[in-house]
Amino acid sequence: MEIIDGKALAKNVRENLKKDVEELKKKGIVPRLAVILVGEDKASQIYVKNKSKACIEVGVEYEEILLDESTSMEKLLNIIDDLNNRNDITGILLQSPIPKHLDINEAFRRISPNKDVDGFNPVSIGKLCLNQDTFVSCTPYGIMKMFEAYNVDLDGKDAVIIGRSNIVGKPMALSMLNKNATVTICHSKTKNLKEITKKADILVAAVGKKHFVTADMVKEGAVVIDVGINRTEEGLFGDVDFENVKEKTSLITPVPGGVGPMTVAMLINNVVKCAKNMIAQKN
Ligand code: NAP
Repeated sequence: MEIIDGKALAKNVRENLKKDVEELKKKGIVPRLAVILVGEDKASQIYVKNKSKACIEVGVEYEEILLDESTSMEKLLNIIDDLNNRNDITGILLQSPIPKHLDINEAFRRISPNKDVDGFNPVSIGKLCLNQDTFVSCTPYGIMKMFEAYNVDLDGKDAVIIGRSNIVGKPMALSMLNKNATVTICHSKTKNLKEITKKADILVAAVGKKHFVTADMVKEGAVVIDVGINRTEEGLFGDVDFENVKEKTSLITPVPGGVGPMTVAMLINNVVKCAKNMIAQKN
């Protein structure tokens, strides 16, 4: 059994990005991420802080647009339009969740596909579906990079994802399908979940429930990826009962220190990619 070191992998990605950013600066382009945060969601504030730290570390400029809870849809869309039109902004991120009176899908649609560093615009998702080059949602993208780094070959493997969200489950499924895995997506209406997960060579848990995946749900020798972030009074936990599951696996991610750091690193990767695309379009 091996534990995936997401922190070390992410550090390596950031170090390479730092060099890319230096090269871009020589060509007169400074990658700059704009983050829009609406309301006072505590978890979002932590995520945004981590993202800004990572940007600064690699030399990517960072701009935060803080909007209060009562912001109107019109105002939010106007802000997105402004950012779309600004030449100095190379990536736009709208931190979710946003207040309930706002339409997040409309907001994601409004972010230019050229600056869609989170990969949530339908154009980006459509391209992923067609297996074309695009911005891929940072968490699944980070997991795909983990597979590469740890030589996990997906070709012909049975992959099971628990969770069908637009930001994790679905793009994860498409990403693995594009690498020739046979993919099953499970959700809250899935029957006989354990029977399905027990067949998985690769099991991805993106449920949002502490220790949801127990040892009896896992096949001997499986690769287990834990996306869950569950904050409790006792601390931070994943969706996988790590201590009891790990011995059954060939490879497993811990929480914290697994998927989370790679998600942030891939965001920066996407901001830098936007900047590179801008240069390519100019030439
Ligand atoms: P989400 O939108 O709440 O989706 C959860 C999914 O789990 C849904 O598809 C839901 O099914 C499914 N589900 C819930 N109960 C289930 C059950 N009993 N059996 C089978 N499936 C069940 O969550 P998300 O945004 O994908 O995030 C999932 C977790 O990952 C959260 O803990 C989140 O904080 C974490 N996360 C971590 C990172 C990272 O960087 N590490 C990034 C993003 C998210 P239905 O669709 O039927 O409701």
